[in-house]
Amino acid sequence: MISELSGLYQEVILDHNKRPRNFRRPEGANRHAEGYNPLCGDRISVWVRLDGDVLADIGFEGAGCAISKASASMMTEAVRGKRRVEAEALFGVFHEMVTGQPPADTAPTRPDLGKLVVFSGVREFPVRVKCASLAWHTLRSALDNRDETISTE
Ligand code: ZN
Repeated sequence: MISELSGLYQEVILDHNKRPRNFRRPEGANRHAEGYNPLCGDRISVWVRLDGDVLADIGFEGAGCAISKASASMMTEAVRGKRRVEAEALFGVFHEMVTGQPPADTAPTRPDLGKLVVFSGVREFPVRVKCASLAWHTLRSALDNRDETISTE
């Protein structure tokens, strides 16, 4: 399916698949969730060090297809250092993009997707939407996991 994406987007996704950013468990991580996409077999662990309401550090581990891995990699870059509400707003816009639903409004607070637009092509491939959004769903689950304490040895 990668080959069906436009050249530039394909290049960015392949680069992140090959050299995923923040592919690690951050020191002092205090939020964690596991994500699994049975349609494709993608498995991802997302780790966050939440400092107040700021995602001070984030990383992921796991294995999956190029789309899922690149999406996780680019997500960590996009939300690292952001406030939780900003990360959630970004997920909202991202989700709209990959599911093909038009933006609900054009409020000035809508975050800019930046490089994440490379995933806009997956909306043509419903099965791949789950690959692209897996990391984001896992992040949201990790952030909701208020009581879990993660020990990093
Ligand atoms: Zn996948």
